[in-house]
Amino acid sequence: MTLAVPASSVPLEAKSPFEMRVHLGDDVPDIDVRTALKTGDMGFLHSYTTGSAVDGPGLRVVAWTTACMFRCQFCHNPDTWTLSNGIPVTLERAIDGVRKYAEGLKRMHGGFTLSGGEPLMQDRFAARLLAAVHQMGAHTAIETNGFYGHKLSDEELADIDLVMLDMKGFTLEQHKRVTGGLPNEDVIAFARRLADLRRPIWLRYVLVPGLTDVDEEIEQLALFGASLGVIERVEVLPFHQMGRYKWDKLAIPYHLAETEPPSHAQVSRAVTIFRAAGLQAD
Ligand code: SF4
Repeated sequence: MTLAVPASSVPLEAKSPFEMRVHLGDDVPDIDVRTALKTGDMGFLHSYTTGSAVDGPGLRVVAWTTACMFRCQFCHNPDTWTLSNGIPVTLERAIDGVRKYAEGLKRMHGGFTLSGGEPLMQDRFAARLLAAVHQMGAHTAIETNGFYGHKLSDEELADIDLVMLDMKGFTLEQHKRVTGGLPNEDVIAFARRLADLRRPIWLRYVLVPGLTDVDEEIEQLALFGASLGVIERVEVLPFHQMGRYKWDKLAIPYHLAETEPPSHAQVSRAVTIFRAAGLQAD
């Protein structure tokens, strides 16, 4: 079946991932969406960002996918929750979007990161795009919440040089509280599988005062992370309000309106807990 990918006048490159993008894929018929998800011949992308220094090692080109199953209270890109908010893009166009930077990325020891939204909501597209970039010889990373990690085969994981695993909590209760009710058994199972395969992980943890700055949670997560033996780095990401305007525009109830970013001392405390478990954290 040939997919009719509507031409979009919106450029793939965005000034920043905080640019609001909605309804760009609304015209794609449901049958084509289903085919795309099954084959990966087409994906839905919020945007590409070039020159990121915070989404993996070195300078990165980052593709942001749309669709996510979580509803994290602190999400700064709720416009990426809905698949059809993204630009419909053929796999070839997505690959070409990276190819023009591949040589430069290799020279500068950077690479390509697939983020979102949750990239594995479009697991076939994600796997094929990452494999194609890996084939170019560029470093590949995926930033994922891990919930659909089981959708990638061991061979597909071998095409991903780094998994940036965003863990929202360690206990089931806390994970549900943060993500809008989603469990985390599959996230933990994915982390263990990566460890069994000796695949490197960067663990990311968003620190939100009054929500995720719970010492016992962080301690359990740190001990779990250390037990894996493959976590190269832990990044404690301070909560911020840069995406708040999106919640307002999308008319989604936002519960963190009064929450301040964590203080330097609060971030240091979380970092210290991860370090005490033997992890390299910053
Ligand atoms: S997993 Fe990421 S994209 Fe999905 S809701 Fe949470 S923060 Fe937002």
